[in-house]
Amino acid sequence: MSTTSEDTLDFEESHGTTKSGVWSFYIKSTTDEGKVVSECKYCQKVYIAGSSHGTSNMRRHLRSQCPSRNSPEVLEFFAKSTSGGAVRSVGCNQVEYREALALSIIQHEYPFSYVEDEGTRKVHSVLNSYVKHISRNIAKADILNVFHIEKRRLLESLQSLPGKVSLTSDFWTSITTDGYMCITAHFIDKDCNLHKKILNFVYVEAPHTGPAISKEFGDTKDENKAFLEFDLCSLPPFPRSSSLYSSASSSS
Ligand SMILES: [Zn+2]
Repeated sequence: MSTTSEDTLDFEESHGTTKSGVWSFYIKSTTDEGKVVSECKYCQKVYIAGSSHGTSNMRRHLRSQCPSRNSPEVLEFFAKSTSGGAVRSVGCNQVEYREALALSIIQHEYPFSYVEDEGTRKVHSVLNSYVKHISRNIAKADILNVFHIEKRRLLESLQSLPGKVSLTSDFWTSITTDGYMCITAHFIDKDCNLHKKILNFVYVEAPHTGPAISKEFGDTKDENKAFLEFDLCSLPPFPRSSSLYSSASSSS
């Protein structure tokens, strides 16, 4: 059996080289029979804690059984536990987790209910037991957040372009025979790279005449400018304070 870092810490403690910080979560006392015991401060679970018993059971309780195992102080304690000088990585970065989930749903066109599937949740729990599963509504909100952030980035980049933007439209008919128009922008950035970005996908009432199509772009003379300015103004406030993407944008 391999020696875990937990065992190592206990080994060190039993040899007097390390005082385990896990005791800050327990109250040490002696029973009438003279046994040394430790009582969890959170749930009053009692363990025998003589010098020959180590603290493995106390750590295990705190890590996986105690009702307060996900409290900030407990997570911080395990995060700071070191073995051989290396910081142990425990807990779960929910920001990264939710962002990765949202991007995977977008990339593979999964239904929102994907995050509630029993099998999906089990896989995520196996990978990290600290993960907090999310509902389909939260997944939907995260994806909308990604959409607004990406849309704002795109429009900001369009407005700072040195050249012109070419807009094209394609029509698509649904199985219920509703007509939709896809507005695509083609442009060259300052590094001379050609880009093709979908700006909008809108329902257009029949008949699809020139004026009807023009109405979707805006009817001023400077159509492209009006379209972009209108869309920028219609955007919700940039979610700088949002947890989603905050880590990604701060690290870049
Ligand atoms: Zn407890």
